Amino acid sequence: MSLIVQKFGGTSVGDPDRIRNVARRVVATRQAGHEVVVVVSAMSGETNELVALARELGGTVPSPREYDVLVSTGEQKTIALLVMAIHQLDQEARSFTGAQIGMRTDGDHTRARILSIDADRIRSSLSAGELPVIAGFQGTDDDGNITTLGRGGTDTSAVAVACALDADVCEIYTDVDGVFTTDPNMVPAAHKLNRISYEEMLEMASLGAKVLQIRSVKFAMAYGIPIHVRSSFHEGEGTWVVREEDVMERLVVSGVTYNRSEAKICVLGVKDNPGVAAALFGPLSRAGIVVDMIIQNLSQDGTTDMTFTVPSDECDRALRLMEEHAASVGAERVEGDPGIAKVSVVGLGMKDHAGVAARMFEVLATEGINIQLITTSEIKISVAIEEKYTELAVRALHAAFVESGATEPVAEV
Ligand code: ASP
Ligand code: MG
Repeated sequence: MSLIVQKFGGTSVGDPDRIRNVARRVVATRQAGHEVVVVVSAMSGETNELVALARELGGTVPSPREYDVLVSTGEQKTIALLVMAIHQLDQEARSFTGAQIGMRTDGDHTRARILSIDADRIRSSLSAGELPVIAGFQGTDDDGNITTLGRGGTDTSAVAVACALDADVCEIYTDVDGVFTTDPNMVPAAHKLNRISYEEMLEMASLGAKVLQIRSVKFAMAYGIPIHVRSSFHEGEGTWVVREEDVMERLVVSGVTYNRSEAKICVLGVKDNPGVAAALFGPLSRAGIVVDMIIQNLSQDGTTDMTFTVPSDECDRALRLMEEHAASVGAERVEGDPGIAKVSVVGLGMKDHAGVAARMFEVLATEGINIQLITTSEIKISVAIEEKYTELAVRALHAAFVESGATEPVAEV
């Protein structure tokens, strides 16, 4: 007998038929002899509608506390409906809000972090022979205020519940078959991965693959709980997200990801003195603008250029801030380009194979794509390119690294 936490996303509970389908599925798992705890999202579209209502009545910046009171209601609807559907199958089940399972968070409304969960409350429901159905995305802070965990937060609720119960697996049921080597809408040859490490999944999620909220992967990694991302529409296996040691095949590149909405800012001719970077990036960080890639050119005659990327919807704000601070670092001028994309290759196998970066640059050069910035980590290489070449770059890199079956070394170290 295993203890399984099953999370169902918005599309999986999108209408009454689908909720009935989920009810049948969780009951079947239970009847197969497992202990099952269910965590659900709001019905698809529901949270977006609530957010739109908040904007309509609350202005561009609605009160964060009231925003959370409002948007957390979507999940409350689903838990009740799912329990009703389970009752129709003559099974015991009980719904729980975040507060009712002691989902304690900090008070950072709209993006709160989970601090602890009252696992005993869930365990006693299980021992009473019930199927606990928990509302994702929500918790309460120490003053009892309702909080939410950020968009996609039900993934994190589910994984946190799995960690608190020391579950055997956290199954994430969704409308795709698993984690793919790249966006299948862009590259028909993309395929589902059977296994991927937490580290790779974290890179892919931060790079824009939207299957899992990043924090959920961090949680699972810290507690060593396997995540199984799978389709709620059929029984087939999906993708297992597991510890590096449990990945059988260390692919040189397991995924190619892209993010079209980046902007590039260049601050030209700044003095090459200590404190210049701090003078530029301090104001950006205080304004809450997340800077991604950064390069500083080699200095010539005591001056240098500083180039970095920000999300494209922050381009104007970042430009204005840089213009304000340009004089203080002696910069000649500031330029911005909102039409940038970041394309990345991710893979554990990069740790032991040299030549991946060189091969990537070769592939892009062959397509005539100019690389503007480069960043790397141990298992990832990202380049910034002109946005209009995104598709071409992703296809070429996927063909070169994934379709070629690059489990074999690019060049052995
Ligand atoms: N309902 C919330 C959202 O749409 C949380 C979730 O679905 O994970 O972001
Ligand atoms: Mg999601």
